[in-house]
Amino acid sequence: MGLRTRRPRGVTVKTSAQIATMRRAGLVVAEALERMTEAVRPGVTTAHLDQIARAVLADHGASSSFLGYGDPGFPAVICASVGAAVVHGIPNERRLEEGELCSIDFGAIIDGWHGDAAVTVPVGSCAPEVLELNRVTEQSLWAALRVVRPGGRLSDIGAAIEAVVRPRGYGLLEDYTGHGIGTSMHEPPYVPNVAPKGPGHGMALEVGVVLAVEPMATLGTAAVDVLADDWTVVTADRRQAAHWEHTVAVTPDGPWVLTARDGGASRL
Ligand code: MG
Repeated sequence: MGLRTRRPRGVTVKTSAQIATMRRAGLVVAEALERMTEAVRPGVTTAHLDQIARAVLADHGASSSFLGYGDPGFPAVICASVGAAVVHGIPNERRLEEGELCSIDFGAIIDGWHGDAAVTVPVGSCAPEVLELNRVTEQSLWAALRVVRPGGRLSDIGAAIEAVVRPRGYGLLEDYTGHGIGTSMHEPPYVPNVAPKGPGHGMALEVGVVLAVEPMATLGTAAVDVLADDWTVVTADRRQAAHWEHTVAVTPDGPWVLTARDGGASRL
């Protein structure tokens, strides 16, 4: 018994030339995240990391996906989410402290096309359980990227993430999701990090679909609060969280990770 899958309203399929432009944006994102990762250490501020990202944008004649986004307009080019912050933290002058996880999320625009990715970097030496949370969250991202291929369905992504994260007992955010991406940072469809009905459901992953996949996992509860700045999402129990993201295109040969310098070759 077959069910016809429909492409949800507003989902666009990109041409190979458009994906090539998105790759250029993705490489700017990769370079900025590498440079910021190298700069993370105790005593550094997230405002400093934001300055590094602004310099990379300027080097490439790229613009920011994040600056001015939303309402109130986001005031920086990176989201820096430290400690109990999961996503959408605003860079500031507070100094990073040993033992914290620092999520850095960054988006760049080249010729009107976006790239979006995030890493989570340990500050100095972290507790083993914190490092393990971070490792497993990154591992869940790569498990999800591997299923972004022709013949797949959207829920394969959430199922792949859950298969890695759930056995560890971590919290997995469900109210925040990945997304389509192209000439806007956020396009349809939503890309959930869970799959209540399992794999094999939802939109077909056809050639030319481009998605940002971004699992967010926590050491404790998955419940979150939004701080008074209207942006920063923190865990309700204030335990630490990790967040990893890549932009990935469906190609005839499988996933192409546009925001990984090697296109994902070493991890897929
Ligand atoms: Mg994103």
